[in-house]
This record gives sequence, structure tokens and C-alpha cells, in this order.
Amino acid sequence: MHTSDRARELHDRAIIVDAHNDTLVLRLSRDEHLDVTERDERYHLDVPRALEGGLTCCFFMVGSSTLDQSLELVDGTWRLVEDHPDQVILATGAADIERAKAEGRLAIIGQLESCTCLNGSLAVLRDLYRLGVRVANLTHGEGGEGTTQHENSPFDFCEPADREQARRGPGLTDFGREVIAECNRLGIVIDLAHASDASFYEAVELCATPPIFSHGAVFAQCPHWRGLTDDQLRLLADAGGVMGMACVPFFIDREAPSMERMIDSIQHVIELVGPDHVGLGADYDGMREGLVPIPASVERLPELTEALVRRGFDDETVLKVLGGNFLRVLREVAG
Ligand SMILES: [Zn+2]
Repeated sequence: MHTSDRARELHDRAIIVDAHNDTLVLRLSRDEHLDVTERDERYHLDVPRALEGGLTCCFFMVGSSTLDQSLELVDGTWRLVEDHPDQVILATGAADIERAKAEGRLAIIGQLESCTCLNGSLAVLRDLYRLGVRVANLTHGEGGEGTTQHENSPFDFCEPADREQARRGPGLTDFGREVIAECNRLGIVIDLAHASDASFYEAVELCATPPIFSHGAVFAQCPHWRGLTDDQLRLLADAGGVMGMACVPFFIDREAPSMERMIDSIQHVIELVGPDHVGLGADYDGMREGLVPIPASVERLPELTEALVRRGFDDETVLKVLGGNFLRVLREVAG
């Protein structure tokens, strides 16, 4: 895709935030080193290509199912920033992201993709906060004993009637509510991606600070459980939150995913709740092997900017979608 001068100028000026990727955990699962400053085309993301693509900040998934795994991933992130301070910075707030932009470095935000790794302990949550974690998904979809919600979240295509029914199901566990309160107190952004509908509705009410839905899609555009319904989008916006549009093709469109269809989803959110509540949550290296994300990998992010410009959004809206909205939430919650 040809990049126009206006798109290039906006892309260069923007603080660009990707609110979710699984690159580290995918590498860990394959017994590969976590020094992602080496270019590695087998993955969707590495530091050189992120900087080439103009990315300012990405959320690295550093914890999900087990505490052992989380500590490995947190260590990998720390070693990355210790070994390559010229390229990366571990960000604990908005100022670090602005500094990374000014210095041409990549800011990394530590993100849990589930609170199951806390083993039911808020002390572990506090320790992970001390180690830099600033975003916490309540669940990666799992429910039951030791988790934040009573039932597993479904993951598939579904009908509107399924959504209506699901919101009346059992929601958060006591531990889930405690995690929300402690995240609010500490300054950790609560991430509702993967939560069941019942948990979503309960959590969005309990959040005292703006929550996010780091990587998901728009149900009105594509009938998948990972898409937010219009009702959910309104509640998320009312809470000051932001949805990250994922680059996962089958979240974008069931039959014919494309960049245009991705922009349709972003436009849907903007028309529904205004320009302040949608961003990018790519989910790079987090989708089934063989799937091609849109844009296909991180160095191709200028394609997204070009498509937003071609759709006719004004400069301010484009800058908000590319990262301004997530930056605002991080500033409000984490400082
Ligand atoms: Zn993930």
C-alpha cells in the first residue's frame, strides 16, 4: 500500500501504542531466548521491526497461567531492558512512553493476560506491580476455582441471543472483585479482554479507574465472542475506557477479513461512542499459527495509518486511535 505524505507525517508524529502481543510467551513456549532485539521474521514482532514500523509502546504479555511462567517472562523483559537500554525502556507510566518517543526507543508495558498466575494472592499482584506490571487481564478465559470468574468464557462465533443469555450468567468470584479493588488502589489498568460477558458487566461497574479491553473486536461487524457488543462499547466508553482493535483476521470479519473491514470496525466504535475509546491491540504472535494478521506484522503498521487517513478521519482522531487513547488511560491510571 502506498503511503501518502499526510499519513507518513501523522505516523511519524504519533505516539503509537499496541495494547497486546504474545511474542515473549510464544518464544518461551518454544524454548527460544527472549532477547527480541534480534530481527526474527518467524514472529510478527521484534524490537527492530517495531521501531521500523513506528511503534512507540507495546504491552508485553508477561504472565497468564502460572507464576513460574510469569517470573520467567518478567525476567526476560528486565534482561531485555538491562541489556539494551539504547533500544528499549520498561515503562511504568505515560511519561516513560513520551520519553521513549523522544529518544527513538520502544517502551514496554508489562501486562498480565490472566490473574490465575497470582495463585489467589494479592501479595503476588503487589510484587508483580513492583516488578513493573501495569496492566492486568482478569482472566485469559478460564473460570472456576482459583480464578477471577465463575465460568469459562466461550470462544467462537455466536448469535446475538447467546450474548443476551451470557450476560445473565455467573460473573466474578470474590477474588476477582478483590483483584479489581487492589488494581484500582495500586494503579494497574484493569483489562477486560477474555472476560465472560457476565464478568464484563460486573467488572465495568466495579472499576474505579478506566478499564481497557486490550485486544478484541466489534460484535456488530463480526459475530464472535471476542467482539464487544454495542451495549458493552457504550459502558466501556462511559467508564472512560478504550478497546484495542485486534489484528486477528477472524475477529475482523468471518468471511473476508481485510484492512478495510478492520477500519469499518474502528469507524463503528467512533460513530457509536466518539473518537476517545478505540485503539490498537494487535495480538501479534498470539493467534493460531498460519493466520496472517492485518497488518501482517509490526513493521507494516504504516498501512493502518494510511487506511485511517483514506477513510477520512481527521488528524486528531487518527492520532487518538494510533495511541493517544491508550496513553490517556495509562496516564490516568498508572501515572
Ligand atoms: Zn495473548
